[in-house]
Amino acid sequence: MSDFHRNSDDSAPADGKARSNFGYMIRPTLGYKRRGCKFCKEREKTVDYKDVATLKRYTTDMGKIVGRRKSGLCAKHQRQVAQAIKRARYMALMPFTVKVEY
Ligand SMILES: [Zn+2]
Repeated sequence: MSDFHRNSDDSAPADGKARSNFGYMIRPTLGYKRRGCKFCKEREKTVDYKDVATLKRYTTDMGKIVGRRKSGLCAKHQRQVAQAIKRARYMALMPFTVKVEY
């Protein structure tokens, strides 16, 4: 009985912590939302199949083309990037796949 009473006393200062935890639990889903296509922002920057350094950002470690949801590009530029990556692959500038060694 006395223990229970003590516990309730202890919880008083922990109240603030609990509240901050609650704020932390809300997921930052906004980070996934499409905003700011990089090629739209920088008007002078165009999709080029020879620009491997830029195109590499839109592929996974395995060499797959990253989807629009993850890349954050608009429909127009996602199409151009996908086409450029395929062109770069054909010209042997980028890999089709990456060999994984276990
Ligand atoms: Zn765009």
